[in-house]
Amino acid sequence: MGPRHVSGDWQTRSFWLEHRSYEPRRPLTGDEIADVVIVGGGFTGLWSAILLKEAEPDVDVVVLEQKVVGYGASGRNGGFAMTMVGRNIHDLLRKVGRERARATHIAMRETLQEIEGFCETEGIEADITSPGVLTVSNGPEQDVRIRQDLQAAERLGLDDFHELTGAGCRELVNSNRLRCGHFEDHSLLVDPAALARGLRDAAMRLGVRVYERTPVDQVKDVDGRRVEARTPFGTVHADRALVATNAYAAAVPALRRFIFTIYAYIILTQPLSDEHWERVGWERRMGIEDKRIMPHFHRPSADGRILWGGRDAPIAAGAPNPRYDRDPHIFARLEETFRWTFPQLHDVGIEKAWAGPVCGTVNCFASVGFLGKSERIAYALGYAGHGVGPSHLAAKIVRDMLLGAKSELLDLPMVSSRPVPLPPGPLRPLALGMTRRLQKELQRADDEGSDRGALVRLGLRVLQ
Ligand SMILES: Cc1cc2nc3c(=O)[nH]c(=O)nc-3n(C[C@H](O)[C@H](O)[C@H](O)COP(=O)(O)OP(=O)(O)OC[C@H]3O[C@@H](n4cnc5c(N)ncnc54)[C@H](O)[C@@H]3O)c2cc1C
Repeated sequence: MGPRHVSGDWQTRSFWLEHRSYEPRRPLTGDEIADVVIVGGGFTGLWSAILLKEAEPDVDVVVLEQKVVGYGASGRNGGFAMTMVGRNIHDLLRKVGRERARATHIAMRETLQEIEGFCETEGIEADITSPGVLTVSNGPEQDVRIRQDLQAAERLGLDDFHELTGAGCRELVNSNRLRCGHFEDHSLLVDPAALARGLRDAAMRLGVRVYERTPVDQVKDVDGRRVEARTPFGTVHADRALVATNAYAAAVPALRRFIFTIYAYIILTQPLSDEHWERVGWERRMGIEDKRIMPHFHRPSADGRILWGGRDAPIAAGAPNPRYDRDPHIFARLEETFRWTFPQLHDVGIEKAWAGPVCGTVNCFASVGFLGKSERIAYALGYAGHGVGPSHLAAKIVRDMLLGAKSELLDLPMVSSRPVPLPPGPLRPLALGMTRRLQKELQRADDEGSDRGALVRLGLRVLQ
């Protein structure tokens, strides 16, 4: 499980990982004993460590991270912490029904408040703001999806989604491409790597032992009585374990058949001048997503840049491969849509570009559970590219599962929605090949602004 080579290239993986200085913790040296060993130092692993310690201060927790905390998706993402579980509110309602969709949305609102509150109390400086999120339509087929979300919010009795006309959208951000949209009140923006690093320090203050540059080769259930996490530098013997490696969990044989890796790409402009910001409005500085099937997301950074991500999302079998982290063709296509949306920013240069791994599941839904009957090894993964907020909710579920607590959280659909397996053996590459073909069709449909075609309709049935 996991690569054995521990290189120091983590700074180059995103602007967020690079732009503040950081001192990694030392690797594990020798064997250790713990109550819970957590593999993976992203949001899932770090929140789980913190929440376990807050609930039971005597629980002895060790976190093992192969590179540095935030090396995976947690230090490379767009920094939108949204209520979204699955692809959108319409998708959530369709997948899990009214009662459970409402319970999930309310749990997500609470979770965002808790993230904000925790960071404030702990003094975590991650440029956290709560400006809400604007979702916009750029075409007639996207208008339909805006309406579907609004209808779903109404059916769920939610009062935090607001319908916007094109003019209403343009009051928030100046682009002629916006036809209509909705605004959701509850949504945060964060500097994700700074959040991961702040969580590492908060976990350590609570007594969690965090080892970075420590790849775990194997997590093993020993006769259903204890677990072992083996690394090149020593073994952690524990009562229970959490696999919090998300897309990298493809390296765990028991999880491999459920997941695949999707790569997500981002470009970042130079800092805008005051005059540029005047041209584009955007005074509220909220995050924005569009309603393409493969959406774009964009947001301002604290130092006045615009982050622009989304659209092409290549799929590959197996654990993340860094060779996908740079793709000039995809970066160029992102720049094209940035220029198309904001022609008035023609003189703003693109300074940074990067990518990261998203954990794909067949049903595009997060899953938290145990591996095996002994219930000693838990896992939490598959946030459909929206895990910044939901990883905190998943961590609360993990806490309750590992501590054997009875809680309403264990009734949420994340727990009961077991990942759907990919087809077995030789059929798997075939299925992934078909998924890639479907994805190309969806991309074409997005570019042409049309939902026509049998393959596109099939894709929409799975995704929307
Ligand atoms: C480009 C991009 C943009 C995104 N934008 C957003 C967004 O704006 N909003 C949003 O909600 N979501 C977004 N996401 C998704 C979000 O980042 C993830 O859902 C979330 O960070 C998952 O957190 P995690 O802790 O589960 O996984 P990760 O952050 O991937 O953490 C897994 C960790 O496990 C470590 N690891 C792996 N194997 C081993 C091993 N063998 N031994 C030890 N450690 C190991 C990895 O190094 C990594 O640090 C985006 C993702 C990407 C890639």
